[in-house]
Amino acid sequence: MIFHSTKDYNVTASIREAVLHGYAPDGGQYLPENIPTLPKAFMMNLGDMTLQEVSYAIANYALQGDIDAQVLHDVVFETLNFPIPLIDMGDNRHILELFHGPTMSFKDIGTRFMARLLAHYHATKKSGREINVITVTSGHSGGAIANGFYGIEGTHVYILYPQGQLTSLQIAQFSTLGGNVTAIEVNGTLSDCKNIVMEAFNDPELSKKMLLTSAKSVNIARLLPQTFYYFWAYGQLAKQGHDMSQMVVSVPCGNLGNLTAAVVARKMGLPIKRIIVADNKNDIFTQYLRTGKFVPRESEPSLAIAMDCGNPRNFPRLEKLLGDHAAMCKIMEGFAYSDENIVSTIARTWQQEHYLLNPHSATAYQALTDGLRPGEIGVALATSHPAKALSTVEGAIGETIEVPATLMRFFNGIGHITAINSGYKSFKKFLLTQG
Ligand SMILES: *Cc1c(COP(=O)(O)O)cnc(C)c1O
Repeated sequence: MIFHSTKDYNVTASIREAVLHGYAPDGGQYLPENIPTLPKAFMMNLGDMTLQEVSYAIANYALQGDIDAQVLHDVVFETLNFPIPLIDMGDNRHILELFHGPTMSFKDIGTRFMARLLAHYHATKKSGREINVITVTSGHSGGAIANGFYGIEGTHVYILYPQGQLTSLQIAQFSTLGGNVTAIEVNGTLSDCKNIVMEAFNDPELSKKMLLTSAKSVNIARLLPQTFYYFWAYGQLAKQGHDMSQMVVSVPCGNLGNLTAAVVARKMGLPIKRIIVADNKNDIFTQYLRTGKFVPRESEPSLAIAMDCGNPRNFPRLEKLLGDHAAMCKIMEGFAYSDENIVSTIARTWQQEHYLLNPHSATAYQALTDGLRPGEIGVALATSHPAKALSTVEGAIGETIEVPATLMRFFNGIGHITAINSGYKSFKKFLLTQG
């Protein structure tokens, strides 16, 4: 399959190049030349398949001929070795729990898939050079990337983060692993961290010595696995005998990667009737749906912190996939929620429905409740475990909650952190001593 840049159709890449580089050289994002449509018979059988089988079948349709079938099989089966339960909440509403991976965030799915694909490219490259993933985190993505790559042969991850900005759980999720994961605390701001990484990618001397890649969320290798669970949810609902022309999904949005995956799944033939877009107060995309104007702005901190995006990166992909504003409005409707809304949704859902929501998931569940129409079957995506936002969730319900062992183990580990100053030289010097 050939991939084209969203900026210039003439800029193309193979899957391997697209995965290794993330962004296209012109700054655009890669999209496949054509999205394969899956046969109707395939949709009918989804309910009889396991999550891994569903996922492998879709990956195979999408990447046929690009990657050895056995390799792809292993990549998919190792990525999705945890369940994705679909919870029936009554009134035709469901919650799809995407957070049962190692860091209890849905980002585990994309990063685990990407790490294994990169390992495959490493193993098949004659030079056998290690692939170095260099990435900046403001909190949420670092743990998922570190755990996605942890122990994957042929890869080493460097996670940079600004001093004094992250919670201790967030830092523990990537600093306690050791092995091929290195945590680097920068004595500076988030933009200092970003500048360091940008300089590294633009440093010819460094690229000569080391193979560098980023694990950006726009990477096509993170987008594809996010289509799997839409098919999975469809199969689970179909098995229960619902009218499957009525499926509506509600997606908590930040950079719009998850939403883009829903659109891709729909293009592949999955009958998603409508998509509900859930925003926090950073409602750039909801405003776009309402007004037709896409106006990026500085993001504001909210309780659903991983959705705090002022300039959603996947917007160009959505435009390319769907066309104009009118076409987007035909299948999408946006809802935005303040921090107060988020807290009251968590409290009410706990008291009345005995289900505990994370702040991110709360936006999607509230949007589903507000936006679902009679006759429709709704699925809200729950993207993170409630214990990952402990103080918010405990504050909302007025009770203490149990932290699952999956998260506790990070607290009990010993952190290994390298401290550097905010200049690029300090990072480069450190990196060159690593090889
Ligand atoms: C990243 C993230 C989101 C937003 O997903 P996008 O694909 O960036 O839109 C939502 N919830 C959680 C918990 C996340 O980590």
